[in-house]
Amino acid sequence: MRGNAGGLRFPLPEAELPGYTRPMNCQNQSKNIAVCNCTYGGCPRHGICCECLAYHRRLNELPACYFTKEEERTYDRSIRYFISRRR
Ligand code: SF4
Repeated sequence: MRGNAGGLRFPLPEAELPGYTRPMNCQNQSKNIAVCNCTYGGCPRHGICCECLAYHRRLNELPACYFTKEEERTYDRSIRYFISRRR
């Protein structure tokens, strides 16, 4: 697994997130996956955008869809990285 510039393992194991609940069934999941640019395999939140956003917000991060293809592949989802790429 590649790390990110912020030093956190990504994504964090579920057990390390306070208040984590298993992703719900989402009727839009297949449609969302069809347009999702996230390349991180094995994530239980793929296509469940509300869970994805909440997860990354808890970590002061943004979901993959905020990043370009090149940026997304770094797996650095930090807001700091997002801003640094837009200066
Ligand atoms: S961006 Fe969303 S789908 Fe991708 S690893 Fe993060 S939580 Fe999972």
